[in-house]
Amino acid sequence: MRRGFILGLIVAAGVGLATVAAQQQQPPLGNIEKLANNLYMIPGQGGNSAVFVAGNGVVLVDTKLANNGPGLLERIKSVTDRPVTMIINTHTHGDHTGSNMAFPASVEIVTHENTKANMEKMPVYQEAANKVGMPDRTFKDRLTLLSGNDSIDLYHFGPAHTNGDAFVVFRNLRVMHAGDAFANAAQPFADVANGGSALQYGDTIGKAAAGITGVDRVITGHNVVRPWADFVTFGEYNRLMAQHARASMKAGKPAEQAMKEFAPGEKFKDYPAVAAGRGGPGGNFTIMYQELSR
Ligand SMILES: [Zn+2]
Repeated sequence: MRRGFILGLIVAAGVGLATVAAQQQQPPLGNIEKLANNLYMIPGQGGNSAVFVAGNGVVLVDTKLANNGPGLLERIKSVTDRPVTMIINTHTHGDHTGSNMAFPASVEIVTHENTKANMEKMPVYQEAANKVGMPDRTFKDRLTLLSGNDSIDLYHFGPAHTNGDAFVVFRNLRVMHAGDAFANAAQPFADVANGGSALQYGDTIGKAAAGITGVDRVITGHNVVRPWADFVTFGEYNRLMAQHARASMKAGKPAEQAMKEFAPGEKFKDYPAVAAGRGGPGGNFTIMYQELSR
């Protein structure tokens, strides 16, 4: 009942109003922050954007909510005269792809192949005028962009936040943008409608932690830059959640009880207590139970 009511509300609110609400909930567009030589971050108005000043132009990772093109360009111009030549989207969500269409068609847009498929389903990208914001190039497991000191390695390890999460590694700078696959050190959001998986989340992050080398710092989807070790710990946290979900379901405990009894230990003392979230009163445990029942 409750879910039907909320869905009704969302439909009634309409896409336009929902976008306005999302923009009001989000912090304002932040200042550009230097992370390393030629690498900057712009927080606010959706996901964190990375700005990488390469030899032939600027590579922008994630474009925030709609209508942030001018603000992004103004901040980029404060650090370089070079034009934006490439956009990488870490995943499909509108707070990471929302201003793609503010950039000219000559800008190459790169995403995971499933993210392109997910974006094709978004109403905003079904409008002819916004097709310019659709990906031009995709990858499946791994792709290296540019060369030499400019090399950027893209990786995909399976479903987590969505089924098209890209990990973007600025190889020479030892920095990775993780997008919302690592939005924050907390219970993550697995967007099952876009192929995400709460159950596989920890394994996917574990594969990324084992398969990616040479990274010291991680740009999170919506939070501060964190050391690599925090990314590894986040994978362990999600694996513990999945283990606990399997054991609790086997013991016949409801998802809400599984959530209450989840005690991951001292290592995760800085993590906020797992609470009801987008999975309903059982949080991600409800989503994991649903996945286990398929
Ligand atoms: Zn997202």
